[in-house]
Amino acid sequence: MSKLELSEHAHRILKEELAELEHIYNSIAEYTSTSTDAISGICSILNKRSRYFGIVGEHFSVQDFDGITVIDTLDECLVRYIHKIAMAHLESRTTSISESTSIDIKTRMLPNATEMPRYPAGYRILHVIREYIRLFDTQAHDKELNDVCGAFINVISGIASAYIRTRDIVNVRHFSDVAREYDVVSRLKCKCGKEKFQVKLQKLVNSDLGTPYDSLDLECRACGHQRSVTFDLPHLSDLYQS
Ligand SMILES: [Zn+2]
Repeated sequence: MSKLELSEHAHRILKEELAELEHIYNSIAEYTSTSTDAISGICSILNKRSRYFGIVGEHFSVQDFDGITVIDTLDECLVRYIHKIAMAHLESRTTSISESTSIDIKTRMLPNATEMPRYPAGYRILHVIREYIRLFDTQAHDKELNDVCGAFINVISGIASAYIRTRDIVNVRHFSDVAREYDVVSRLKCKCGKEKFQVKLQKLVNSDLGTPYDSLDLECRACGHQRSVTFDLPHLSDLYQS
């Protein structure tokens, strides 16, 4: 059995859109000094998601394997840029954020927090960040205050960094990859039009070059259609190195 991979076409689109995100991030980073700049920078780069979502959707279904994989990779990159914008601002502040303001902002936001899976996919984090920005806009009447904006950026940074930790910590990122496999399956659309694939069999396979990957046999609960998908496991070897 040979390993399925992301198509050349998908790689090309991914490369172009990653370069576009980097370009946008660099132009935001250059002009970000105040907390209001940082929040508007986060909003601007977040709004670019609709651009790449649209472009990927022109070439693939965003509910098929190539489309989902390209979007997930771009989403992860976007969360990292949001985190970088937030951290650059927090590190550059000359005044510290008061604890009472931070607690106040969290109290306003957290009752609306969505319950997160342990290893969320990037799109869930982006959804929560977008929702928090909306709440901040409608609820924080004192949002012109530097301290309030700083506390809000701190909240956004915390959400992004919790996700990034699941992707960067050795021994954790492999489990994050495996959790994502099931998340991808839940979003895959069958040719019958339903998103009802279930995993019938998950196998760890070695490629001809000895590289391990996961192969999942799926069956649609609506029409019985069967297909397989494969996922790279680039961080599996971490588990045996510590
Ligand atoms: Zn089906």
